[in-house]
Amino acid sequence: MSAMIYPTSNFAEQDKLCIERAKGVYVYDSNNKQYLEGMSGLWCTALGYGNEELIAAITNQLHRLSFSHLFGGKSHSPGVALADKLAAMVPIEDARVFFGTSGSDANDTHYKILRYYFNAINKPQKRKIITRERAYHGVTVASGALTSLPVNNRHFDLPIDALNILRTDSPHYFSSHLQGESETQFVDRIVANLESLILHENPDTIAAMIIEPITGASGVIVPPDGYYKKVQTILRKYDILIWVDEVITGFGRTGNDFGCTTMGIKPDLMTFAKQLSSAYYPISAAVIPGYMHDAMVEQSSANGVFGHGYTYSGHPVGCAAALKTLEIFEREHIFEKAAEAGVYLRKQLEKFVDHPLVGEIRGKGLLMALELVPNKLKNTRFADGKVGAFAQRACQEHGLIVRAVAGNSIALCPPLIISHSQIDEIIQKLTKALDDTLIYTQKEKLL
Ligand code: PMP
Repeated sequence: MSAMIYPTSNFAEQDKLCIERAKGVYVYDSNNKQYLEGMSGLWCTALGYGNEELIAAITNQLHRLSFSHLFGGKSHSPGVALADKLAAMVPIEDARVFFGTSGSDANDTHYKILRYYFNAINKPQKRKIITRERAYHGVTVASGALTSLPVNNRHFDLPIDALNILRTDSPHYFSSHLQGESETQFVDRIVANLESLILHENPDTIAAMIIEPITGASGVIVPPDGYYKKVQTILRKYDILIWVDEVITGFGRTGNDFGCTTMGIKPDLMTFAKQLSSAYYPISAAVIPGYMHDAMVEQSSANGVFGHGYTYSGHPVGCAAALKTLEIFEREHIFEKAAEAGVYLRKQLEKFVDHPLVGEIRGKGLLMALELVPNKLKNTRFADGKVGAFAQRACQEHGLIVRAVAGNSIALCPPLIISHSQIDEIIQKLTKALDDTLIYTQKEKLL
């Protein structure tokens, strides 16, 4: 491990693992030990590793046109084809697509585009964005401020006040139920809090609310039934746009094409990255409705050059990788197969319902988590994230890569191509790792 890379080597509380190569759903370390990649890397390698068709698409594009950009009237065919393809897939009317290279930059793009748009239609006061507690939307200055996890903002002095970010409740019912609040009462309470926040701030000053349909990094939180319906009613009532961050939930991850389909959300704006290219090449997309685009274009003769974009916006190799990924998704019926695998995974995970450490099993499709708790019957949590970290390490020892998120929740997000026997393998390894973790918690007197 090089001491020159940070944070991997210097901020050292994590386990060291140097991954050398990969094929299908498996990765191999420098000692040639095999691991089942239960996290798709970082929620991204939808089609697994070493897909020859994707490698060929990328190589061919490198031979044909290794770089071109999308500024000043220039375009290139993979960029045009990808924008057309995405626009036809998303549930947004007359969709227009802006490309970047990461989920963070896609969210920053929307943050800025909302300002450009509301300035263009002469509503410059509409600039605040609502986000939720425990949300994760990236780490750049604006997306990092929309993220509500302390480690991502506290030490970086985020959010900067001028970013005008408002925070409302996380829709995680789990902590409430043992205190006697019903699911409906919980939803009604947090939706009422949202409405109070909007009224307190003045709806005319709020541009949008950003939503991960199901959260990832903050613990795979699936809001209770009815939550999104009520949230949307409130947002529509006050003319606040719905900005759906599909960076993790997009493209078959939750049992449907998009997380918003699974959760019944009608988006105005969407952001994508990760599975868009199955992580074979960095690419992101920020999608807006045609009417926003038209209003901005109308204003452009007064504004001059549109001053937003990255050198690698719509990199032709990234576009070629994404186009091929979407083609394979469609041709191989990957979303349908992943939905079916998701049903099987949940059924197998339900076997942990009686495990003394497992407090909640949650998720949709192939995006799942087990929350580890000291006492299933009482509303208690471990004081820190040591148990989750231990479980992650134990999984790794047994040849399974998972991710401890939000302290002690163990996330599972395997490639969409995972088979039933590979899911069985996840369960076998996880069983051993959870048993090791139980012994650890007993020895350390953490229960
Ligand atoms: N949004 C969500 C929901 C994410 O999970 C992530 C990354 N995990 C991002 C945005 C940021 O994406 P990136 O790391 O590519 O900047």
